[in-house]
Amino acid sequence: MTLFDLTGRVAIITGGNGGIGLGMARGLAEAGAQVILAGRDRAKGDTAAASLPHDAAFITADVTRQADCRALIAQTVARCGRLDILINNAGTSIRKPPQDLTEADWHTVLDTNLTSAFLCSQAAYPEMQRAGGGKIINIGSIMSVLAASHAVAYAASKGGMVMFTKGLAVAWAADNIQCNAVLPGWIDTDMTAGARAHVPTLHDTVLARTPAARWGVPADLAGVAVFLASAASDFVTGAAIPVDGGLSSKA
Ligand code: NDP
Repeated sequence: MTLFDLTGRVAIITGGNGGIGLGMARGLAEAGAQVILAGRDRAKGDTAAASLPHDAAFITADVTRQADCRALIAQTVARCGRLDILINNAGTSIRKPPQDLTEADWHTVLDTNLTSAFLCSQAAYPEMQRAGGGKIINIGSIMSVLAASHAVAYAASKGGMVMFTKGLAVAWAADNIQCNAVLPGWIDTDMTAGARAHVPTLHDTVLARTPAARWGVPADLAGVAVFLASAASDFVTGAAIPVDGGLSSKA
């Protein structure tokens, strides 16, 4: 369908070499986009890029570093000629109660999950202006709106992501750049495999808490990514869309 067609569009997905990022990248690529995956693990990135159509590629970047974010955008435009879509997906979590969290832990989580989105979006802005508009998709979490005792830095970063998204939406609407957030529920990835290993009851707790009564999979994020990256969402900006099997709606 033309409304969702991404042929000729160029997309960057940070943390696109696995998990949710690769699930969204696959959706965009199947809709016609050329995708650039970014992350630190080149072997994983090259394998992921090879599984995608339309000359997908991996670019090494640590998105906590401003120089890497700028180089990621510049290398993408040098390779693909333009930039239309940026998905700020790279993320990390450190599971500790707040009284045990070090200052370094705090900065690691905030820098990876939130500051990275600022750095990449700012670097992408002139290229999106040059392209006549763009789409920025920021990955929040159910923890953008619900708290957990072992994840205060994570929740702070993901709550901040929603207001950062709304701010960008307001600031760049006149440039025809739409900025929206996606708030995934519990999705089966390397990140949550770590949490499940740490908390043996987590698997069953998620099934009980989620109205859909299952874990999400990365492919569950493909549809919302295509919608928010395409002309179908041209009047949607500043939204935060849960993709959580109903979890955030349940008392
Ligand atoms: P994964 O651990 O599978 O993916 C995280 C990705 O982030 C990896 O590709 C990793 O690549 C990348 N990354 C981490 N740090 C950096 C960095 N400094 N620079 C560049 N890339 C980095 O986890 P998920 O797929 O589960 O998570 C993806 C996003 O979804 C995160 O923002 C997460 O918070 C969010 N989310 C996940 C949920 C879930 O249930 N899984 C629920 C809600 C939100 P590399 O190691 O190569 O750098």
